[in-house]
Amino acid sequence: MRPYSGEKLCGRCFCKSIEEKVHATISNYEMFKHDDRIMVAVSGGKDSVTLLHILVKIERDFPKASLSAVSVDEGIRGYRDEAIRIAERNCRKLDVEHMVVSFKGMYGLDMDEIVNKIQQRKEKGLTPCSYCGVLRRRALNTAAREAGADKLATAHSLDDETQTMILNIIHGDPLRIARVKPMLAIIHPKLVRRVKPLCGVLEREIVFYAYLRKIEFHGVPCPYAGAALRNDVRNMLNRMERRHAGTKYTIFRSMERLRPALEGLGKQEELRECEICGEPTVGEICKPCQMLKESHVL
Ligand code: SF4
Ligand code: ZN
Repeated sequence: MRPYSGEKLCGRCFCKSIEEKVHATISNYEMFKHDDRIMVAVSGGKDSVTLLHILVKIERDFPKASLSAVSVDEGIRGYRDEAIRIAERNCRKLDVEHMVVSFKGMYGLDMDEIVNKIQQRKEKGLTPCSYCGVLRRRALNTAAREAGADKLATAHSLDDETQTMILNIIHGDPLRIARVKPMLAIIHPKLVRRVKPLCGVLEREIVFYAYLRKIEFHGVPCPYAGAALRNDVRNMLNRMERRHAGTKYTIFRSMERLRPALEGLGKQEELRECEICGEPTVGEICKPCQMLKESHVL
């Protein structure tokens, strides 16, 4: 994986260079086996739809592998509905099987209702994104496991990965960097292995690729996104990248080099099954169940 060198490429060569970068990431981290059943998490946004298009191209060379897609409907009115329609249209165009799972169906309430409850309690603390992220990860894992997928591919970009690394430091949890990697380790049979084939590609390269390839994506921001600390980190890193090109890549590489040492520092936590839902957890009750309890759903 290498940063964009700044050389001028025509549209076709640019797209090819992005596809090669994804290919290189997949081989470097040995993300897929030739006969994997891969499920791609597709929200309808630029990153996930682009990932789907690139993986469909790559998968053509591996006839024994299969690809399907899943979207999570968090239940954010006026936002996610359109994104899911776009995800559906892309899957139809690419002839990829597509399934949709919803917070309402899995947890009995949607994001709009959760936000309502958080606002009623008027407590400062977790933002809508903290709930949404935890519940969506669970929903994706359950969907992938039930569909019999070997790998769950998510569209985390180089931007997402560096933001998460900085956020872990801000939250005082640097050892977490060891766990946030391009290909997550197998730590429990109920957890489908997550891979991030776009982790070496910048967000702006992804947008450019999508425009050049005329890929339809949902570009409207989520109404709850403003509250997240991640936004401040994103803005800071974008400012740095504008002034000092290559900053995001350098942070990513530095953390990659630090990871083996960090892995030696933290002890591998034993996972057991949640007393409420039976899903893997470190404590007695898993995070999603804790959050749903706090929201007075359980
Ligand atoms: Fe969920 Fe936050 Fe993303 Fe909106 S911005 S979809 S609330 S994680
Ligand atoms: Zn649980």
